[in-house]
Amino acid sequence: MASIKIDQVQKAFGKVIAVDHLDLEIKDGEFFTFLGPSGCGKTTTLRMIAGFYYPTKGMIRFGDKDMTRVPPEKRNTGMVFQNYALFPHMTVFENVAFGLRVRKISAKELKTRVQDVLRKVRLEKYSDRQVSQLSGGQQQRVALARALVIEPEILLLDEPLSNLDAKLRDEMRSEILRLKEEYKITTIYVTHDQAEALSMSDRIAVFNFGVCHQVGTPSEIYNEPANDFVASFIGEINLLPVKVERVEQDHVYVSAQFGSESRELVVHNLPYNFNPDAKGDLSISIRPEAIKVFEQQTDGTNILKGKIEKVEFFGSVINLSVNVAGLLLQVNLLNNRSNNLESGADVWVQLPEDQIRVIPVVSGDVSC
Ligand code: ATP
Repeated sequence: MASIKIDQVQKAFGKVIAVDHLDLEIKDGEFFTFLGPSGCGKTTTLRMIAGFYYPTKGMIRFGDKDMTRVPPEKRNTGMVFQNYALFPHMTVFENVAFGLRVRKISAKELKTRVQDVLRKVRLEKYSDRQVSQLSGGQQQRVALARALVIEPEILLLDEPLSNLDAKLRDEMRSEILRLKEEYKITTIYVTHDQAEALSMSDRIAVFNFGVCHQVGTPSEIYNEPANDFVASFIGEINLLPVKVERVEQDHVYVSAQFGSESRELVVHNLPYNFNPDAKGDLSISIRPEAIKVFEQQTDGTNILKGKIEKVEFFGSVINLSVNVAGLLLQVNLLNNRSNNLESGADVWVQLPEDQIRVIPVVSGDVSC
């Protein structure tokens, strides 16, 4: 296993800066995910770790070793590509054996190692099949076996599930986590799918336009987003532009613009929340499931009167769009069978003060 340190790395392709000012530390044995929209620099970063690209600036280390300009075959990393990059007319055995033949491993050891890894990915019965005769999920397993057979210190997975249907994706998600536990290997996983990232990772780095916006555990990223981009990329969120009016001990008082009306809201300022040194525009964020709904007028902090515009029934969950002074708030409620909410009804929503975050606006586009 190996830790990875990425220090002030930049990668430029001509005038395009694909990755900039990147600092990351990935721990030994960690399952670490690069998450972000298409074109944000995830694959470029992965390829720099694999050695297929060298950084324009900065340094990459595995443990204490400087790997910045070490060629891929001397890195001991195994990579699974998005399109698998298998040899379609070779057998499963030959595809998996390929990396060992390049490394001139003896025939006896090669056979044992290939059979062993095929057993681990549950493909031992398919050894003599041509890859072109396998299903998508089976090809995915061959690609994993081929990466693992060289016993890499680091496993690099580039959107490995994106070509599979929903059911197979679930299956392969568990399979990848099982293999990671079995091999106890440092793993970097690239995806644009936030559900995959949240459910699989020890930690996640969220990228946009070549810049890493936040590194944290899934719950940190979801509950304590660093800015409006992270908040809106991960799950559903309500964002409202605000001005900070005053800070009193552990409470921040903000004025939020609801249509033409300004309302004061109170935010319980937990340690990770409002940064008084933050410069530029600010927004508050609150998750739809954190908002409470009352059918009668109620006393309390941050209570706003609204009208239900839309009710969407999803079985276990009911999603509401509530119009508060011209601004639509998204609210998700658990279906407890006593919800009797209808479109057009007046309701009172509460934004609990410990559920609101005050965050910088970096996307320039704050809307609900
Ligand atoms: P996707 O999810 O679509 O694969 P990504 O987040 O992995 O996207 P990258 O493939 O790393 O993004 O690309 C980052 C930026 O660098 C994009 O603007 C892309 O067009 C550019 N880029 C990537 N590879 C090259 C290259 N070989 N030459 C020129 N530009 C490149």
